[in-house]
Formats: sequence, C-alpha cells, structure tokens
Amino acid sequence: MMPASWRKLLFGIALLLTAGGLIGWLYGNPVAGLLVAALAALAWQVRQLLAFDRALRTRDFDTFRYGEGIWQQMFSHFEREHGQTRKHKSRYRQLLKEIRKSTDAMPDGAVILDAKNEIVTCNKAAKILAGLKPKKDKGQRIDNLLREPALNKLLQKQDYSRSVEIISPLREGEWLNCRVVPYGADQKLLLLRDVTERIRLNKMRRDFVGNASHELRSPLTVISGYLDSLAEDPEIAPGWEQPVEQMRAQAQRMNHIVAELLELSKLESAGRANTTELVNVGGLLVAARKTWEGRAGVPEIRVHLETEALLYGNSTQLESIVGNLLSNAVRHTPQDGSITMIWRASKKGAEIVMQDSGEGIAAEHVPRLTERFFRVDRGRSRDDGGVGLGLAIVKHILNRHDGELHISSELGVGSEFHCRFPAQRVAVPEPVALGGSGS
Ligand code: ADP
Repeated sequence: MMPASWRKLLFGIALLLTAGGLIGWLYGNPVAGLLVAALAALAWQVRQLLAFDRALRTRDFDTFRYGEGIWQQMFSHFEREHGQTRKHKSRYRQLLKEIRKSTDAMPDGAVILDAKNEIVTCNKAAKILAGLKPKKDKGQRIDNLLREPALNKLLQKQDYSRSVEIISPLREGEWLNCRVVPYGADQKLLLLRDVTERIRLNKMRRDFVGNASHELRSPLTVISGYLDSLAEDPEIAPGWEQPVEQMRAQAQRMNHIVAELLELSKLESAGRANTTELVNVGGLLVAARKTWEGRAGVPEIRVHLETEALLYGNSTQLESIVGNLLSNAVRHTPQDGSITMIWRASKKGAEIVMQDSGEGIAAEHVPRLTERFFRVDRGRSRDDGGVGLGLAIVKHILNRHDGELHISSELGVGSEFHCRFPAQRVAVPEPVALGGSGS
C-alpha cells in the first residue's frame, strides 16, 4: 500500500494539473493550462529540494522543520536519524573520555604496541614511570626507547606468561616490572609497575639472611671445636658423655643450616652461571656415588651415562645439585631399595635424572618441595639431618643454568627428580677418529 503522504502528493499534483487543464480549457487552450500547472508543481518541488539541500549544508534544520507533505516527512526521518547518530557520537566520546581518565588514573603504566612493537598510545603512568610520551613517542619502537635486553626478549618471544624486571630508565635504583599481554588484533599491552619497594625488601631480606648466617659461622665454629675436644676427652665427667654428644650433633646441624643458608643467599645474588666452563656431569655423578657407596644403610646406587655431552655451567653448583638430590634419595630409600642416576641428552637439551625406589612423596606436597624450610615430615626430617633447604638450592642453581626441575613421585613406589637444561647449554664432543691415516 502506498503511504498516505505519497498519495497526498500525487493527489495534489493531479488536482493542480486538472485545475490547470480546466482553466486552460475555459480560455481555449487546455495544453497551455496543463503546462503552467506542471511548471508550478515542478517549481514547488524544486524549491523544497533546494531548501532541503540548504538545511543539510548549513545544518540549520529549523527553517525546514515546517516543510510540507512528503518533504516534511523525509526531513523528520532524516532529523531523527541525525539526532540519534549525534547522541551515539557524544555517548562514545564521553565513554572514551572516561576510559582515558581511568587509564590515566591507573598507578601502573600501560603502553599499547602494534605488531611491530611501535607505540600506539600510552597512559600518564607510563610517562611518569618510564618517560614515554603519548604524542611524541607515537610510532616509535619500544625497544629503541627502553633498551633492556630482558624486555626485548620478552617481546620477541611473545611469552605472555612471564614478566621481567628492568632498571628504571629515569631514576637510578628504581625497578619496573614489565608484563606483556595480547591486546586486540595483533596488538600488545605492555604493563609497567613500580616494584622498587619489593626489590628493596627482597634485597634487605637477602642481606639479612646472608649477614646473619655469616656472623653465626664464627661462634659456631668455636662451639663445635670445644664440643669436639670435650667429646674426645677421656677424662670427661661421668654423665656428661651423652649431653656433650647431643650438643655436638645439634651444633653440627646448626653448621649445616648456616652453610646452606649462606649458599642460598650467595646463589640469590649471583648472576647466570657462566657459559664458558664445560662441566663433565657424568664425572660428577660417578664422584657423588663414591661419597656414599659402602656406607651403612645406603641402598645400591647405579649410574647410567647415556651421553658424553658436557654442560656449560658452574661445576661447584652442579656438584651441589647432584649432592643434594643424592643425599635426599639416600635418606628416603631403604637399604634394600635402589637409586639410579642418569645423564642423558637429546636435541632438546640434556637432563640429570635421580630415581629412587624409596618412600615417595604425596602429590599434595610435590608443588611445595622447593620452598625454603619445607619438609614433608618435620619431625623425621629433623632426625635424619634434613633442613628443608636442599631442593630450594637445587631450584636456584637450575635457574642460574636456564634449567628447570621436574618432580614426579608416588607414595610407596619412589620418586624421580629431572634437572633439565636447554640445548644451548649442552656441548656434545666430536667423536675422535680412531685408527691411523696410513702413516
Ligand atoms: P631436606 O633437607 O629436609 O632434605 P629438601 O629441600 O632437600 O630438604 O627436601 C624437602 C623435603 O622433600 C624433604 O623434607 C623430604 O620430605 C622430601 N623429599 C626430598 N627428596 C625426597 C625423596 N627422594 N624421596 C622422598 N621425599 C623426598
């Protein structure tokens, strides 16, 4: 059905043409009458069209608001749409303002990067923390502005699960934590957080533990020395043998704790293990077995050297890994059980494996094993000389060697500790050609 306005328009034109024709007919020229009427209708439409066009150009719709017929209806449609678009636009503008205000109020820096790691925009905190300027630095590559190898690696690797800590580019002694999260299509959001306080507290804790352990060492050496002499003294007062022996055992335990705390604090402040010294891991395993073999209560210890590969790293630290893992395996495996140490390599890297058929560890404890002072059975562990620092040390050393510790264990069946190293730390010696060349 034709809309009423159209019907009205057509009816008006028809009426005008009929009236023109009739008047023309009365004057003896109906065609001229029709023509005049048609011209009048056309003139009126052209006038409306011009007014509509002017209203669109000048955005002054008031003069047109009272247009007539179909034109008035078209105009109302247009005005309604126009009004809605304007409302949407202003709502979006308001929303954008709110978002910008809230990101500017954030204490963390936020930098939007495109696929080429060029800055799209950043908030106020990014300016305060890292000196980035949203207008001036737009289009600049972030790695040209924040020249930190650790951050570049993070951006290149697109490893969104990790964060890195970098020195503030603006203020000495301040630290920023950087995290990258994927954002929109092919964009990234670089989040910067001031972690100076945390790093300072961590350093204070490290220094405190290091200093306290260091200070405790000398008095402990004196006490242990006197207790050793007392224990060996044939003229010791009757009834004192047992207390002296107990004191000696406890002093030894304290020595052990202090030594491990010192080792941990040294490891914490040490950097990555060097990549120039080649360590014969197979030799370390064989030497570790020798230190335990033949002792009372020690289960059978096997060594499987599946590779001749050498490892770039720190031999003392790697020796400590093997020593700690083997000492744990011995303490948690009955004499009729067995321990197997394996050194193997593949294209992916290399690993030291410590397997035992001992008591195993309940699944709920496994994730906590590398926490400092964590022991599954505190009482028992104390009796067998356990401190709860061994696996924390192992984990730290592995970190320094770009390696990882994987633990799998089953209660009553045994445990496996895998120390995995990446391929770039592994060197496989060239096979030596045997036999002469004819000389
Ligand atoms: P500790 O000095 O007590 O051995 P660790 O950090 O080396 O400390 O080990 C933490 C805890 O993990 C130990 O107390 C022990 O309960 C458990 N554990 C470590 N190795 C083994 C193993 N091979 N078998 C069973 N339990 C183990």
